[in-house]
Amino acid sequence: MNSTEKKIILVSNRLPVSVVTRGKSIDFTQSAGGLATGLDSIYGEQNSLWVGWPGISREKAGKNQRAIREKLAGNRFHSVFISQKDLDLFYNGFCNNTLWPLFVYFTQHVKYDSRQWEAYVRVNQQFCDEILRISSPEDTIWVHDYHFMLLPRMLREKRPDQRIGFFLHIPWPASEIYRELPWRDAIIDGVLGADLVGLHTNDYVTHFLHSVRRLTGIEHYLGTIRYKNRDVKADSFPMGIDYQKFATTPAEKPVQREIKKIKAQLSGEKIILSVDRLDYTKGILERLEAYELFLKRYPKYREKVMFIIVAVPSRTKVESYQQLKRQVDERVGEINGRFGTLGWVPIWYLYKSIPFHRLIALYRAADIGMVTPIRDGMNLVAKEFLAANEGHPAVLILSERAGAERELGEALVVNPNDIQGMAESIKSALELPRKTILRENAVMQERLKRYDARRWAADFLERLDKVEPISPRSVRRALTPKIRTQLLKAYHQAKTRLILLDYDGTLTGFHDKPEAAKPGKALQKILGKLTDDPKNTVAIVSGRDRRTLDEWLGDFNLNFIAEHGVWLKPQGESWRLIEPLRSDWKTSVRPLMEHYIDRTPGAILEEKDYSLVWHCRKVDSEFASRRTLELMEDLVQLTAHLSLNVLQGHRVIEVKNANVDKGRAVAQWLNQRDWDFILSIGDDWTDEDVFRVLPDHGWSIRVGDTDSHAKYWVPDVNRVLSLLDSLSGRMTNE
Ligand code: UDP
Repeated sequence: MNSTEKKIILVSNRLPVSVVTRGKSIDFTQSAGGLATGLDSIYGEQNSLWVGWPGISREKAGKNQRAIREKLAGNRFHSVFISQKDLDLFYNGFCNNTLWPLFVYFTQHVKYDSRQWEAYVRVNQQFCDEILRISSPEDTIWVHDYHFMLLPRMLREKRPDQRIGFFLHIPWPASEIYRELPWRDAIIDGVLGADLVGLHTNDYVTHFLHSVRRLTGIEHYLGTIRYKNRDVKADSFPMGIDYQKFATTPAEKPVQREIKKIKAQLSGEKIILSVDRLDYTKGILERLEAYELFLKRYPKYREKVMFIIVAVPSRTKVESYQQLKRQVDERVGEINGRFGTLGWVPIWYLYKSIPFHRLIALYRAADIGMVTPIRDGMNLVAKEFLAANEGHPAVLILSERAGAERELGEALVVNPNDIQGMAESIKSALELPRKTILRENAVMQERLKRYDARRWAADFLERLDKVEPISPRSVRRALTPKIRTQLLKAYHQAKTRLILLDYDGTLTGFHDKPEAAKPGKALQKILGKLTDDPKNTVAIVSGRDRRTLDEWLGDFNLNFIAEHGVWLKPQGESWRLIEPLRSDWKTSVRPLMEHYIDRTPGAILEEKDYSLVWHCRKVDSEFASRRTLELMEDLVQLTAHLSLNVLQGHRVIEVKNANVDKGRAVAQWLNQRDWDFILSIGDDWTDEDVFRVLPDHGWSIRVGDTDSHAKYWVPDVNRVLSLLDSLSGRMTNE
């Protein structure tokens, strides 16, 4: 590999190989699990580097660290050693005691421990530092799975332009479950550091987008989320397998020999097979119960079938897994004791990881594959089982709760909690005509062949390449340091200046209650300096009522527009209506708005002289959107024949007299004289009316990057304040 070429950097917790040291010798074994096997098949064809943990703690590797690193580097694996303490806190702890059980809906196993969280942050940071050291900004970084949900953001902070993809191999849970996590905001923020977020199924994508909306209030548009001034795309990419490998290996001699060996130990019994990590999500106990019920209900099948259960040891240091192991051991013993005869054992139970050839032989020897997880992000075993049985009538019984079910609907689909249903499905599988099995399998096999692991990875990487994180419009309009310097120069050269400033969302952030946005010390200081300069005419062009503006800002040499252009108060004068208005319409509109307030806890009604405003910032975002839409519809109908405008903003609806807007209101200053310098800053649609009426040489700035008539945009209130602050100071670059 040429080190100057652009690379694809894969990042996962485990490298696909694990180190085993015996004294001085260093050996490697293949890591188990879907991610390792899935990526393994595409890795190697790309100009790639795989960053991960080699399966041995820093302490255990000891002096061998360097040798291990070098050996693995030959295969383009980059090892990151994790300390024993962090393996406990990060891996056994936060990953497998918190994130895993929560994301697979086993909330009874979830533990919240801030020390484990700190270790999670620490290990993510460790990987971030390591990746930054060995990669260049042109590389594409593809981060995998729930172990590294903070990593995309950490990388983004250091490398704003890096291409970063994130794929979650487990389900994204319903937002109601996700919300339970104390660190939910940090994790969402972490994941949204990526350009593309991939999940296995559309359901998970929906849950993810829903969680984003609930926690950040940000809506998506066709799966694209505008977050921190970048576009982040979320989409589904159902992970495939190396189909050819699984379809062709059964014909190989060692596999054939293995199949013969298995069959030789049987007396013609039909084989039911299950292969999973020993994990509580896999539904092993429920499956055993279903098998027991099947044997009880259908005695004629005793001695005619046998169940081979492969349970691969997993997370053996985690208490809930140890407990499950004991339960499975016991149940297998009970069933074998109860139904077994001298010549027949109902269950063969293998608690171990098995080599690839033997696994394929088992897939091929089996008549029924029983894949019945309670929850599973995807489940590759189901796909592998089908691929290994091309032209062979083996039936797949598949849980509706496995992500794979979305692609394998022709299987015998079961509810993994329905013990009776599963018992019946074993009987149906045994009795299905050969032709039907082959026909249904062929449809699924065709699908798996087309969208295999290579296509999956290529699809993800192609899409990642296409995501436009920052639209050209935004680049053009961002207030870059260069433009900022030009603005400052224009300001300093001007003898007459008009400065039009919106208040909420521009000079101060949003708050749940409108009255909580009082100007703080910093803002007061900035306004003081700006308004003391005799060359400046400064106007606050706000939607707020007169009283609040007087109370909060009355001491400054300011001009005011209140209620989005209803009231005007030139500096040193008193309030006056810009034009005569009526407010008698309120009596018919108010009851409708009040009715909605009653039905929407947290929403409030603000009454201004010539407008009524519905606010729902404190309401849960999804509920707020629904109610706002409903109210909007009702209001539009009700006001159809009145001369009113119904305007929807950021979680607000304002009903006000038509023909009143901020643009009309500021016209009087604009027309007063030929200003040398005009600056207008605002953050929402009401400010667009001002941007529209500015003369060509005016500087208009919108807070937030959305479509706008403003010439430029800045990301947030802080940026506005720092700009205003520097206007009254000496000329400096930001
Ligand atoms: N597998 C393995 N060793 C074994 C048995 C299975 O490596 O002894 C592999 C199997 O081929 C499959 C993966 O482990 O590719 C399990 O992936 P799956 O998506 O079914 O479940 P996960 O372990 O990711 O929850």
